[in-house]
Amino acid sequence: MTMRKCVNSLLVAAALAFTAGCGESESAKPAEKPAAPAKTPLVQTKQAADWCKEHGVPESICTRCNDSLVAGFKAKGDWCKEHGLPESQCFACHPELEAKFKASMPAGADK
Ligand SMILES: [Zn+2]
Ligand SMILES: [Zn+2]
Repeated sequence: MTMRKCVNSLLVAAALAFTAGCGESESAKPAEKPAAPAKTPLVQTKQAADWCKEHGVPESICTRCNDSLVAGFKAKGDWCKEHGLPESQCFACHPELEAKFKASMPAGADK
């Protein structure tokens, strides 16, 4: 009878990951992922530079490039309605911020 074995295997498989079928229960592998070798990507500098040179702020907080960030700034009360920007990025209201952001710009990000 194979039905019974199948049920048992399914129980084992379900306990493992819901993915193994009846035929795979015997080759249960340890859930060990081969560690990815820590290679240094050649284009690392490009990815490391978190900078929107168009808007002069880090790309990760650039609401003009990523408008899904807007709600977060609004929720914090960090929002300039007049200019449609986070108050903390509004160079029109806070000209000193421009220099501050420039100073924190990653090296080579403006190239
Ligand atoms: Zn931008
Ligand atoms: Zn403003």
